Amino acid sequence: MSQFDIEEFIAANCSDSMQHDDEVSVPCYNCSDEGDHLWINMDTGLFICYRCGESGNLPKFIAKVMDVSYEAAKGYIFRKIRGRAGEGLDEIKDRLDLGLEDPAPPERRKKRRALPRKMHMLPPLSPEHVSGQAAAYLRKRGVTDQQMKEHRIGYVHTGKFGRRIIVPVIRSSTSIYFVARAVLPYMQPKVLNPKNVKGRLTARDVLFNLDRGMAQPKGILVEGVFDAIATGGIALLGKRLSPTQLDLLTKTCQHWDELVVMFDNDDPDAGDKAETTARVLSPFWAVKIAELPEGEDPASVDNPERYVDAAEEHSRLRRIRMKAREL
Ligand SMILES: [Zn+2]
Repeated sequence: MSQFDIEEFIAANCSDSMQHDDEVSVPCYNCSDEGDHLWINMDTGLFICYRCGESGNLPKFIAKVMDVSYEAAKGYIFRKIRGRAGEGLDEIKDRLDLGLEDPAPPERRKKRRALPRKMHMLPPLSPEHVSGQAAAYLRKRGVTDQQMKEHRIGYVHTGKFGRRIIVPVIRSSTSIYFVARAVLPYMQPKVLNPKNVKGRLTARDVLFNLDRGMAQPKGILVEGVFDAIATGGIALLGKRLSPTQLDLLTKTCQHWDELVVMFDNDDPDAGDKAETTARVLSPFWAVKIAELPEGEDPASVDNPERYVDAAEEHSRLRRIRMKAREL
C-alpha cells in the first residue's frame, strides 16, 4: 500500500499512544490533554478528541502536531508516501487535495461482511425461538412485524451467534455489518458486535439506519439499533461517535437543519457522554440534546418524538457552531 504510515508518525511525534482495533488514541494537541482523548483512524487519518470536540483529517492532525501550516502538512505527507507509491504525482496530489488518503467511504473499500450462517428471517416468530423469548424481547422493544421485515431482522439458534437476534446494518440494500442481541438475560455480552477482522468493517465504521435517517429533515442520533427503529434515527452502535462515523454523517447529511442527540439515560455520566458527542457535531449542525427520564432509552419511552421536540441547543454548543461559521 502507498498509504502514509500514521503509526510511525505517532510513534515519532506523540508522547503516548494506545491501540484500539483500527484506531489509536493519543494526547490531544488542542486541549492540554493529559490522557489520550484524541482518537485517530489508522486507515483514513480522520480523528476526534473526546475531551474538547476537536476533529478533522490527517493533514490537519499533522499540521497541528508539527505546528506547521495545513499546506506544509500535505507536502510532508506527499513526500513521505511518494517513494512508496507506484503512481504518478498528479494522482497523489489529487488524493491529498481531497484531504483524505482515499475518498471512498470505508464500507466500499473494505470487504463486506456476510450475515451469520443459518439465520432465520423474522417474522414469523416460531415457538422454537427459545420459548418465544426472542419474540418477547422484540415486542418489549416495540418492534413491529413490519419493522422486522423492513430492517431484515433475523434470529440464529446455535453457534457463535446462537440465541441472538441479528440486526443487519444495511447500506444501499446490502447488509454490510450486523449486531447480535442476546435474547436470554444471563447472556453476555448483551450486544455482540462482530470483532475486528483485518480488512472487514467494525462497529465504528458504520451507522445503523443511515439511509432512512438521512432522508429525514432533522437528524436524530441514538446509541442502539432498537432506539433507531423506534425513532427513525441513526444509531452509533455505542456511545462514542467515531472519526469515520463523523465523516459519513458530514458527507451524507449536510441538508439537516438540526441534529438531536438522544442517548440512553442509563448511568450518571450519560449527560456528559451526550454532550461530548454533541460538541464534536456542533461545527456542522445546530445540535440539540434530548433528555430522557432516568433509566429510560429512546425505545423504552412512549412517544420519543416528544423528547426530540423538547430538545434544546445549549448555549455552549451554539457558541461552537457560531465560531465554526466564522472560520
Ligand atoms: Zn482535545
